[in-house]
Amino acid sequence: MSVENPFENSRKQLAKCAAILELDDNVHEMLRHPMREMRVSIPVRMDDGTTRVFEGFRIQYNDARGPTKGGIRFHPEEDVDTVRALAAWMTWKCAVVDIPLGGGKGGVVCNPKELSETELERLSRQYIASISHIVGPRMDIPAPDVYTNPKMMGWMMDEYSKIKGMNQPGVVTGKPLTVGGSLGRGDATARGGIYTIREAAQKLGIDMGEAKIAIQGYGNAGYYAASLAKETFGSKIVAISDSKGGVMNLEDGIDPDLARQHKLETGSVANLPNTVPVSNEELLELDVEILIPAALENVITDKNAYNIKANIVAELANGPTTPSADDILYERGVHIIPDFLCNAGGVTVSYFEMVQNFYMYYWSEVRVHTRLDRKMTEAYNSVYEAADKYNTDMRTAAYVVAIERVVLAMKDRGWI
Ligand code: NAD
Repeated sequence: MSVENPFENSRKQLAKCAAILELDDNVHEMLRHPMREMRVSIPVRMDDGTTRVFEGFRIQYNDARGPTKGGIRFHPEEDVDTVRALAAWMTWKCAVVDIPLGGGKGGVVCNPKELSETELERLSRQYIASISHIVGPRMDIPAPDVYTNPKMMGWMMDEYSKIKGMNQPGVVTGKPLTVGGSLGRGDATARGGIYTIREAAQKLGIDMGEAKIAIQGYGNAGYYAASLAKETFGSKIVAISDSKGGVMNLEDGIDPDLARQHKLETGSVANLPNTVPVSNEELLELDVEILIPAALENVITDKNAYNIKANIVAELANGPTTPSADDILYERGVHIIPDFLCNAGGVTVSYFEMVQNFYMYYWSEVRVHTRLDRKMTEAYNSVYEAADKYNTDMRTAAYVVAIERVVLAMKDRGWI
């Protein structure tokens, strides 16, 4: 899946920031390691009566600011270093949007597309059961991520509640509304990203109504980003893609809902009527104002960074840009909204979901949107100001803001 090791990349980014912050070596060393890692073998009875054993992970990176939180990915090429990197990023992400949570992440090595619904249910239940003694509403709270969804969160919550002998809606977020989910969670990641794009466009003098947008990945993050950008600002979505290929229409743009319908019916956005094909590689280099990587890691590298034409790269995906590509984009004046800021809307509304679960009192969708907007706008502006203060790129600035907050909590707990 990856040409570079994502965990080594995340450590490189941390080191760059530690130097700017003149972090004590011992503190830097503590921040380089996950606090706790669990690897589990998950036996699942398949529909044909055989048993398959899947490999799963749960990694808790740092809980200085609060219980760890982070999604669960079901992916055939999942590996422990990717999960480690994602757990580190969750720590910085929760800190940068200033919610009282630490960072964690989980993954199961499997191909959900090859599993039946009943097999997926048994795998989801077995996975949460295998890690049940290290997760909990005040300990570590999973959520959906790549190829996992609210239905699976409902199964996991149910299984965990059975194990504990009581209702425990707060153990996972991203649940269906009927069992303690929050309004506004479905599009929260994209919506949060769109709020940061709006702020960045304003700073750069880009009119969102005139902006052309290309989006790689058309799942939860990519589809809602397309739909919200068009609906809210009238931006033109000129290209979209998924794992099977991409399509573009530079003149008239693409209707996000028609594209979604086509993907639902055919399994891909490829061959969408009134478009021409574009490869995932070409899509990244299109002449657009805003590029949104919303699929997997390491897609913008030192090989294509010189060809990126967008003014803003809004990283809804985790880790789409390698450190060497980062340097090239910064030199070229491309404004990056770094992953753990841009895609923090999901965890922010997950946090709102936890708050509502604890209170057993549920908010209106408007309240969720207003509070999300406030959190994302404040976070974007604190990072923008740090970039200015330290004369550095937005990613390093986001690390500076986040790491300062984590280090302060570690100090106040007496860890350092
Ligand atoms: P998803 O499973 O809903 O969609 C993933 C999309 O990426 C699909 O359209 C798939 O076809 C496409 N894809 C897979 N491999 C590809 C490839 N090689 N080239 C191009 N496209 C490819 O997942 P999602 O929830 O939209 O997550 C996408 C990214 O956003 C991930 O990096 C994830 O970690 C990140 N993210 C998601 C959330 C969330 O709440 N959903 C929150 C934070 C970050």
